[in-house]
Amino acid sequence: MQEPSENIKKEPTEWVESRETGYPSISSPVFTTPQGTYYLQAPGVALLSKPAVNIAGLGAFLEGFDGKLQFPQYLNDTTPLPSGTQLCKVAGQLCYASFTPKRTKNENAQRYFQNIKDSGHGSVLEHANYSLLFYGISRSVTHELVRHRAGMAYSQLSQRYVSGTVLRFVERPEYQDDLELHTLFERRIDTAAHDYETIAEGLVARQKLGSTILSGEVRTDLRKKVQQTARSVLPNETEAPIVVTGNARALRHFIEMRANPHAETEIRALAFRTYLCLVAIEPILFEDYRIVRVSDGTYAVETDYPKV
Ligand SMILES: Cc1cc2nc3c(=O)[nH]c(=O)nc-3n(C[C@H](O)[C@H](O)[C@H](O)COP(=O)(O)OP(=O)(O)OC[C@H]3O[C@@H](n4cnc5c(N)ncnc54)[C@H](O)[C@@H]3O)c2cc1C
Repeated sequence: MQEPSENIKKEPTEWVESRETGYPSISSPVFTTPQGTYYLQAPGVALLSKPAVNIAGLGAFLEGFDGKLQFPQYLNDTTPLPSGTQLCKVAGQLCYASFTPKRTKNENAQRYFQNIKDSGHGSVLEHANYSLLFYGISRSVTHELVRHRAGMAYSQLSQRYVSGTVLRFVERPEYQDDLELHTLFERRIDTAAHDYETIAEGLVARQKLGSTILSGEVRTDLRKKVQQTARSVLPNETEAPIVVTGNARALRHFIEMRANPHAETEIRALAFRTYLCLVAIEPILFEDYRIVRVSDGTYAVETDYPKV
């Protein structure tokens, strides 16, 4: 078995990788049992997509007003902002036609978003969307994750379409440093992987013998019939990779609810890592969060501006 993740020894802000690419991630190493069953011990998070903004697109619109208003100089703000922050600021400033030289400039964006959070006008944060890959998370975590509906989109690995060749599991933190619990975990996932294969093979054999309930029109149907049945032996510990797209307002709510000391430990680790990746690229949108150490040694965040 590999050594547990070095993340445990580092400060959380040091967990974030590939900052320089503009697409931060926190990877999660893969382990195997002596029998070769794959498992992970922590959530992996990778930012796949973020807004791309073309402020120049406002040009024709801004030129169509009284020249005395000097709206077109809105495009000359030379202070760069992260794309999501810039997009939300444009959207917010459109509301009050705040395009004159007296508007809040990019250099004061922090103050601008402080007001947004303070007044609870979080709808402007809905313009910035981020897509993230989550892996190294269990089926029980994704069951909780997908309860977050507003402003979120999900695409999860299908246990019906995908065979046992990509089967991996997730070890809960409570088991990792306890030899007895860890050994039981490894034994359990070896058994689950073995049972899955045995059942799948048995179902394929029954299909060949003409079983009606397992029959299908095309090959994909036949495979699905096997996999949708065999998955019944898979435990909550089965890994369930998922791509999640959420807007900044929805992601803030997810982080507040789940990177919370009262949230379940595994989803808290996921939400905390999501926060670390997002604050690395959008410091202004997420700067109000404070990292707190929970009594069990894990991390959470808190903010004075919940549910903006
Ligand atoms: C510690 C903890 C324990 C939990 N325990 C349980 C449990 O025992 N059983 C259980 O079933 N769930 C449980 N949950 C899940 C919880 O009830 C929510 O389903 C989940 O947190 C998603 O929250 P949300 O609905 O606010 O999020 P979202 O779906 O993202 O919604 C965001 C916000 O949009 C608004 N909104 C969204 N949809 C609607 C709507 N249809 N109508 C009106 N307003 C809407 C609400 O203001 C909502 O807060 C628990 C969650 C936590 C964090």
